[in-house]
Amino acid sequence: MPTPSDPIAGQMPPSDASAQPSTGVATPTTSPTPATPAPSESPSKAATDPAKQALGWMHTARFLTTAAQLHHLPAYDLPEIAFVGRSNAGKSTCINVLTQQKRLAFASKTPGRTQHINLFALGRQGQTDTVLADLPGYGYAAVPKQDKLRWQQVMANYLVSRSHLVGVVLLCDPRHGLTELDEILLEVIRPRVEEGLKFTLLLTKADKLNKTEANKALSIARLQAGGGTVQLFSALKKQGVDTLALQLWNWTHAEPTP
Ligand code: GDP
Repeated sequence: MPTPSDPIAGQMPPSDASAQPSTGVATPTTSPTPATPAPSESPSKAATDPAKQALGWMHTARFLTTAAQLHHLPAYDLPEIAFVGRSNAGKSTCINVLTQQKRLAFASKTPGRTQHINLFALGRQGQTDTVLADLPGYGYAAVPKQDKLRWQQVMANYLVSRSHLVGVVLLCDPRHGLTELDEILLEVIRPRVEEGLKFTLLLTKADKLNKTEANKALSIARLQAGGGTVQLFSALKKQGVDTLALQLWNWTHAEPTP
């Protein structure tokens, strides 16, 4: 649980009757998490290696809360990073590998929460400094049209209005390319990206591409990711994990420009 000095302490979200269950704030589903840097590294080594420091930070992730509707999300005074992508793009696997905690993405796949925005806390226990938001995968064929439309609206509203949102990671399986819904999402965030919102297009399952295919996928994605970065990622081969961790760290820990 957060200590009184934790920025998330004492901020209970409004009750969410449809959440299964509404868990309140900072109910860790994992055992106490390591402080940054990861304990397996000597402090001096981790302190001098930014990627290791960023990974140690990612490994502190813990479940915060879940909400079915935007106005049920608590408003933390902390930078937030959203993970979005069509269903089956590899989002849960990516979050698991990045945070080294299987239960986090499991939390998002728990029946009743698959259509929820799930929030995770990052930072040492009691010193949460960032919130990760796992938005539900979209485009799953079996979901009734009514639910799809409602979710597209919730997602668009979230991306347009969430005030502490500093960055978006859009996951895409490059073998399928961007779907129509991915492109709508890009359109929705474009004005915010122009105003400084960070954005990266993560090409998942890169282990399924040979070098030529990977280069082609990167070239196409660069044309589509206006204002954002593009990178290859493979949970299977642990490719791009350090890069992504460091990027998210930099998004949320950048020195303010004078
Ligand atoms: P989500 O619906 O976006 O959360 O997608 P999942 O994380 O559940 O992944 C969908 C499928 O892709 C699963 O069968 C995963 O095992 C597979 N997958 C995810 N990441 C990778 C990867 O890096 N390489 C390969 N080969 N398969 C992956």
